[in-house]
Amino acid sequence: MIEVIATSKLTSKQLCTLAFSCEKQPYIPGMNWNLTLPNVPKPPVSPPQPPAPDSPKLTILHISDIHIDFAYKPGSLADCPEPLCCRYGTPDSGHIGAGFWGDYRNCDLPLWTAEKILEYIAETEEFDIVYHTGDLPPHNVWNQSRADQLYAIDTITSLLKKYFPNKIFYSAVGNHESAPCNLYPTPLIKSDNLTWLYTSLADNWIQLGLPEETRSSIFRGAFYTTLVHPGLRLISLNMNYCASDNYWLLINSTDPLDQLQWLMNWLQYAEDNNEKVHIIGHHPPSSCLESFSWNFYKIVNRYENTIAGQFYGHTHNDEIIMFYDEINKTRPVSMAYLTPSLTPQSFLNPGYRIYTADGEYNSSTYWVLDHRTVIMNLTASNLFNKTIFLDEYSVKNAYKMDYLFPNDWNNFINRLLADIDGDLMGLVYQYYTKSFANGTACDHNCRQGLLCNFKTARSEMLCSNSFMIS
Ligand SMILES: [Zn+2]
Ligand SMILES: [Zn+2]
Repeated sequence: MIEVIATSKLTSKQLCTLAFSCEKQPYIPGMNWNLTLPNVPKPPVSPPQPPAPDSPKLTILHISDIHIDFAYKPGSLADCPEPLCCRYGTPDSGHIGAGFWGDYRNCDLPLWTAEKILEYIAETEEFDIVYHTGDLPPHNVWNQSRADQLYAIDTITSLLKKYFPNKIFYSAVGNHESAPCNLYPTPLIKSDNLTWLYTSLADNWIQLGLPEETRSSIFRGAFYTTLVHPGLRLISLNMNYCASDNYWLLINSTDPLDQLQWLMNWLQYAEDNNEKVHIIGHHPPSSCLESFSWNFYKIVNRYENTIAGQFYGHTHNDEIIMFYDEINKTRPVSMAYLTPSLTPQSFLNPGYRIYTADGEYNSSTYWVLDHRTVIMNLTASNLFNKTIFLDEYSVKNAYKMDYLFPNDWNNFINRLLADIDGDLMGLVYQYYTKSFANGTACDHNCRQGLLCNFKTARSEMLCSNSFMIS
C-alpha cells in the first residue's frame, strides 16, 4: 500500500474514492482510458431464437466461491472480532458455537461439508462440463501466506479430480487466490509478481482438463480461451485486473496486460468464424473500476450476436445483471448470471447451479435455456446431523418465463418493477439469499436496490442504495 501511495499520481482523495468507495467514482483523467473496437462494422442484430424442443442440449455445472476453511472447528466461537470465525475459542454460555456442517455467521465451508456437497453432485447430477469461477481459500485474509493459498488450490483440485475424474473444468481466478488477497500486480509493478500463483493455476487447471495449449496464456495473466467444442468458444477472464480492491491498479489501471484488447480480438475471431462465446470470470463487470466496466460494456454491445452467455461469482448471492444498447437504452443486448457460492459466508445456504444450454448442432444459439439451483439446508443439516440438500428452484418454472434470453430477463425485471412489493419479488430476494431469508426480510428500499443492481452491469451507473459486494 505504501508503494501504491508513493507511486500513484492520484491525490489522496482520489485514492480514497477508488480504493474505499469514499464517494461516487468521479472523473479522474489518469484513470480514464478508452479502447478502440476492431475496424469491422457491427453486423445486423440477430437476437437468439428458441431452439426446437428436441434439439441437443449442453448441461453445465457451475460452482463458485468454495472458500474451504481447513481450520474450521465445530463448537468454536462463531461471533468473533476477526473477518472469519468458527476457528477457535469457546462461546459464552447461552451462545451457540459453530455448527458441525457449517455456520451462517462469518464462517467458511468446512472441508468435510465441501466433500459431501461434491459427493452429492457426483451421485445425483448429470452434466457435460463445469464452470468453476474462483475464490478457493478461506476469508482469514489477515494471515494468509503463499503456501496457504497453494495448499488450498492443490487440495481442492485433488478433490475435484477425485469426485469428477472425467469432467473438464473451465476455471477462472478469484480475488482470494493471491497473498495478500485482492492484490494482483500488473507487469508494470517491478517489486512484486504472481509467477508463484500463475504457475500453479496453469498446472492445476490443466490437470482439471484444460488443453496444454492454454498454459502460456494462464502463466502470463490467468486468462485464456479454448474451444468447448467446434462452435462454442470459452473465454475465461482475470477480473482482478478490473477490481477496485486490487490497489495496484491505482498506479495504472489502463487495460492491464491488454486483456480487454485480447478479448476484443478473440470476439472478432469468433464472429469471423461463426463461433458463439461463453465468458466466465470471478468479479462481475459491475464491480470493476469505471473505465474497465465502461469499455467492457462497449465490447458486449459490439459483440452481442457472438456472446451467448456470461457467468460470474464473487458476490456469493444469486443475481443477474443486464446489459443494454448504448444508444437505444431500453433494448437489452446481453445479460450475466452471478452464480451463488458454495460457502455459506455470510447468512446464506451453500449452493450450486446446473445450467441447461442450447447444445451442439449447426446454428445453435448456445444460450442458457433453463437453470436449476440446489442448496444444502444448513439449519436442517446441523439439526439432524446429516447433509440435507434440496432443489431450491428451476428458474423457468419459478419465475414463469418462456425463455431466458436477454429480452425475457428484461421483461421479467419489468414485471418485478410493476409489483415491487409483491410475492414474486419476495421470492427473488429469497433466492438471492439461497433461501436463508424470505421476502419479508427485504423492504421496499431493499427491493429497489436489488432490482437496480440487476439492471446495471456498468459500475458508474451503480445504484445509491445498492448492496455491498463481498
Ligand atoms: Zn468469494
Ligand atoms: Zn471474490
